[in-house]
Amino acid sequence: MDTFGLNIIASDKIFYEGRCKKLILPSPDGEKGVLPHHENMVIAVTVGTAKVQLAGEDEWKDLAVGSGFAEIVNNRVTLLVDTAERPEDIDVRRAQEQQERAEEQMRQKQSTQEYYHTQASLARAMTRLRVAQNKKWNL
Ligand code: ATP
Repeated sequence: MDTFGLNIIASDKIFYEGRCKKLILPSPDGEKGVLPHHENMVIAVTVGTAKVQLAGEDEWKDLAVGSGFAEIVNNRVTLLVDTAERPEDIDVRRAQEQQERAEEQMRQKQSTQEYYHTQASLARAMTRLRVAQNKKWNL
């Protein structure tokens, strides 16, 4: 099957470089699918679960991503996000603490900026808890 080049870059590391068959990204207006030879474009990515079918594999692998964007140019996709974790990278206890901390902050009076910050932190924690239960990448 046809493939495309995929680079996943988080703010602190190059997360993945390789070939991919299909990619599904969480975006502000729903999920966006990318197949080989997708037209060139930039897609906004929101906190959530990205799914990838790597070259030579049939199963979907999940990835917890923070916000960022994906640039598609000439059958190469660069996914640039603030955070990215595979199920095996996720510290579940830390994510539970992140969730509890964010929920507690939501109950306090916050500035609008603090509120959006807390909301994003809560979304990252909840995504991590969901993705941690999924199939490992074993790369
Ligand atoms: P918060 O989401 O409450 O702001 P934080 O500042 O600790 O928590 P992030 O800013 O979301 O976390 O991420 C910072 C770095 O830590 C990133 O590299 C991210 O991949 C990693 N990280 C955060 N939480 C976890 C977790 N539960 N398990 C594994 N890695 C994590």
